[in-house]
Amino acid sequence: MIAHTPTLFACVALVATIMAFCLILVGQFNQRDGLLTIGFGLLAHALAYIGYTLYGHAPLWLTYGAANTLLAVALAFYGASVFRIVELRVRWWRIFAPAALMLVLMVSLIDTLEPRMLAATLVLMVQCALIIYWTRRYIPAQGRARMLLIIGSSISLIGLGMRVIAIIGGGAAEMRYDVSNLKQTISVSIGTFTAMMISLGLVLLAKERSESLFQRLALRDVLTGILNRRAVLEQFSKELERARRDASYLAVAMVDIDHFKQINDVYGHLAGDEVICHCVNQLTQRIRESDSIGRYGGEEFLVLLPRTSPENAVTVLDQLRASVAESPARFGEASISLRISIGVCCVVPNEDDTTASLLARADAALYDAKGLGRNILCLAPPQEHRDNTAPLTSLSAR
Ligand code: GH3
Ligand code: MG
Ligand code: MG
Repeated sequence: MIAHTPTLFACVALVATIMAFCLILVGQFNQRDGLLTIGFGLLAHALAYIGYTLYGHAPLWLTYGAANTLLAVALAFYGASVFRIVELRVRWWRIFAPAALMLVLMVSLIDTLEPRMLAATLVLMVQCALIIYWTRRYIPAQGRARMLLIIGSSISLIGLGMRVIAIIGGGAAEMRYDVSNLKQTISVSIGTFTAMMISLGLVLLAKERSESLFQRLALRDVLTGILNRRAVLEQFSKELERARRDASYLAVAMVDIDHFKQINDVYGHLAGDEVICHCVNQLTQRIRESDSIGRYGGEEFLVLLPRTSPENAVTVLDQLRASVAESPARFGEASISLRISIGVCCVVPNEDDTTASLLARADAALYDAKGLGRNILCLAPPQEHRDNTAPLTSLSAR
């Protein structure tokens, strides 16, 4: 089916105008989410297509030169949106350099046919390639928006490439904006389709970013940035399930800062916060990538060490305890020394072991550690010892 090319351009201009209006309207209330930048891109896109629609009825500098420059500006705004949305610094001059080049090329080549067509198409191709490059480089691989942006820009690149081939093959006259033929219909349709894909991809990217931000806020402890209680308990359930399935050890440690109330009382609450953060830094620096740590309560942390035998858990955690004791926290001029006590429960879990029962055992071991004078690690005895109410045989280290 051959569509009337100017009508096709007008339809794209109309759709882009409506989308630009909506995005600029909602984007102005939160300039950090990038919607405003996408809206400006769509506005430039719409203006470019209005220019193309008028081709043959208005001066060439307007309907070709200015219109192609506006399209380059639109792609520059789309590129800038990628940076905006992922909260990277936007290097405006670098992003808009191809649009400036387009302007220069259009001014100098406007009276030619093939050279101006080739120049315009090649600049747009470079811009699409840049969007693909930035998307691949700066957007995390798991998102669906990334896929949409890469596919949209790649199809655009292919469409523009076909245009270049047609021009080089002597078909420049057939590709003028006021000519309607099958090649033009396909070319304009590809352009339209991809413009929508790129702008939708960017909107989806902004949505994914804010979702992941909220998710992060919901799962992270505000003070320390580590997992909060809910998140670490969720992680605990997963680790327990995995250890049960693999019949492997899981070490669960409750870590508590000793006499923390005194630290608050002597140095103040802000210093107390600083001590909590310092303690978390010490702990997180020394655990493995596969281990997890979460803030269980005020100055209590839950540490999960998957695939760790009781001997290894005791060694690793006692080194942690010792290193915390050796590195005081700083708060202004004050150097605040801190100690931690640790209760560990290490099992190859069976069907009877639950997060609650393992937590209770680790907590009981922590209680033992406090009773033994603090700054100490206690390993919860195997289940049968507790069941038999045998005397406490916890392995302790200081
Ligand atoms: P123990 O050695 O037996 O653990 O004694 P402790 O003083 O550490 O234990 P206790 O549970 O009596 O005190 C914990 C204190 O931690 C009480 C609470 O005010 C304080 N706290 C809880 N959350 C925070 C916080 O986010 N920041 C600060 N600065 N203090 C907190
Ligand atoms: Mg404490
Ligand atoms: Mg406590």
